Amino acid sequence: MTDSSDRDPSRRVFVQGTLLAAAAATLSGAACSRKRESAKVAAESPSTPKLGWAIVGLGKFATEQLLPAFQHCQRSRLAAFVSGSPDKAKRLAGRYGVDEKAVYGYETFDKLAQDRSVDVVYVVLPNSMHAEYTQRAFRAGKHVMCEKPMALNEAECSAMIAAGKAAGKRLMIAYRAQFEPHNRAAIELVRAGELGRVKLVIADHCRTIDPKEPADQWRIRRAMSGGGSLVDIGIYSLQAARYIFGEEPTEVSAQLASTPNDPRFMEVEESAVFSLRFPNGGLANCSSSYGTTNVKRYRVIGEKGYADLDPATSYEGNVLRVAKDGKPEPREVPTTNQFAAEIDHLSECIQLGKEPRTPGEEGLRDVRIMQAIYASAREGKAVKLA
Ligand code: NAD
Repeated sequence: MTDSSDRDPSRRVFVQGTLLAAAAATLSGAACSRKRESAKVAAESPSTPKLGWAIVGLGKFATEQLLPAFQHCQRSRLAAFVSGSPDKAKRLAGRYGVDEKAVYGYETFDKLAQDRSVDVVYVVLPNSMHAEYTQRAFRAGKHVMCEKPMALNEAECSAMIAAGKAAGKRLMIAYRAQFEPHNRAAIELVRAGELGRVKLVIADHCRTIDPKEPADQWRIRRAMSGGGSLVDIGIYSLQAARYIFGEEPTEVSAQLASTPNDPRFMEVEESAVFSLRFPNGGLANCSSSYGTTNVKRYRVIGEKGYADLDPATSYEGNVLRVAKDGKPEPREVPTTNQFAAEIDHLSECIQLGKEPRTPGEEGLRDVRIMQAIYASAREGKAVKLA
């Protein structure tokens, strides 16, 4: 009889881990704890099989950040590409050691179902395509990492979550800042009470959008992006407020603005400012813009001190300073590749049967709050969140 775990590497590791854990459970005392330790090491050793990832959409972010990050992964390897440009995909396949036979087009995407080298599909497409390709990946029997923002609206997010549950596969939203060491350090120092009770978070994410850049062309088309600076980069401000407070906002107030007659902002907002009220007396004041110099920062202000992350959400070079008695001191944080950490996190969750830190429900929460931000701006009043 063939063990089905032969065909599914994630199941194989899970079965291995389960058997080792079961063996450890039959032993007692020191021997037991030694065995348990070795079971843990076995499950996490460098010989742990790497899961195969298919990257869907070989655009700017995928080619410049994600593909190079796989060399730093311990649990994940590039296994397939899905692209509308076969020549580009084959060139990248050669560079990254992906079999040419594992290069698919959008029209042949569903053939991934027969490709046993692929365990996980990473959707790195324009926002309007996230829901469709996530659901198709689940129908092909794969786990899914989906880029932010999760989708255009709550209904799409709910359909994606339901499709994952129906397929019995994991869904994770690619919130890389939650795997970035400076942001992790900020969360930890807040939880440890270093700043006293946190009362305020001030977060800004801004850049200049350039329609000459292909990656920016779909971002200014509402049907493809779902919104302007808020959904693209304001989402980092929103995320920071939520993960720093560690609670869900109960109310939002917002305003939007665009430079009159700027052709970039005929369909989507240039700038957004929004405030969030948190249940334990905290407030966040957040902004985003597509019409300014680059800013990616936030400040956390507590009773006993404050923490500045500036930049907070760059691909590299983030800086954390912590001020007590008004004196900001740089905090040394060992750097790691945030993309590799994020990608390996999902592989680890699949292998060990755990729920990802940023599941589909996390993406849905942000989409719901951003819809409330738009409603508040439209109606000119605060909007309560259920
Ligand atoms: P991009 O335009 O460079 O890449 C999109 C890819 O989708 C391209 O390869 C394009 O050819 C392909 N595509 C397929 N069908 C398309 C269509 N109908 N119209 C346009 N493109 C089509 O964009 P990007 O900046 O790489 O963004 C892709 C996704 O990644 C977005 O959801 C974005 O929000 C997300 N992103 C995340 C981060 C992050 O830090 N997590 C950073 C940048 C982008």
